[in-house]
Amino acid sequence: MTLRIVLFGPPAAGKGTQAQRLVERFGLVHVSTGDILRRAIKEGTQLGLQAQRYMDQGKLVPDDIVMGLVKSVLRDNVQEQGFVFDGYPRTVTQAQNLDELLGRQRAIVAVLSLEVDREKLVARISERRVLEQRKDDSLEAVGVRLDAFHAQTLPLKQYYAAKGLLIEVDGTGSPEEVFSRIVSKIS
Ligand code: ADP
Repeated sequence: MTLRIVLFGPPAAGKGTQAQRLVERFGLVHVSTGDILRRAIKEGTQLGLQAQRYMDQGKLVPDDIVMGLVKSVLRDNVQEQGFVFDGYPRTVTQAQNLDELLGRQRAIVAVLSLEVDREKLVARISERRVLEQRKDDSLEAVGVRLDAFHAQTLPLKQYYAAKGLLIEVDGTGSPEEVFSRIVSKIS
């Protein structure tokens, strides 16, 4: 099955976990802009330095930076057909850009929206704070991230619904439960 999927959802909805499972099951290329940006920061690249001040505060990194990164990932994978985009796109501008980059031949086939309410998200992030020590998991940054999701990312749902691509999935319960919901919706 050739899948090109966008995993959509608020911070801590479980996008990374489900993306990993989709990669294992369907052999997709995983494109996580969060991971790419964190790697750039670790490597201390110019771009990483630019991105870091936004990320630490919980703000979205500017579109042109993120779109440039995804463009080069797609250029490195011109032969690939299957992709899971995780944490990308996050703005309507990024979504339009992704459509252009993929073209008709490799268009997105489904957008899976992981539905988890705000209370649960905050609880999940508090747990993760202890384990992972991500700077943007601080209470303050989490508030900013959730607000950014509502203001800048949520409008994308309408964008994809209008294209008939949006599939809502209950994101609560164990990772296994969520994954089996996903598989049953896409197959
Ligand atoms: P989460 O979904 O839990 O917020 P991510 O790893 O996807 O985790 O994102 C972490 C941070 O990286 C975001 O808060 C933002 O600063 C930056 N980021 C990741 N992807 C994007 C994107 N597509 N556009 C803008 N900023 C992004």
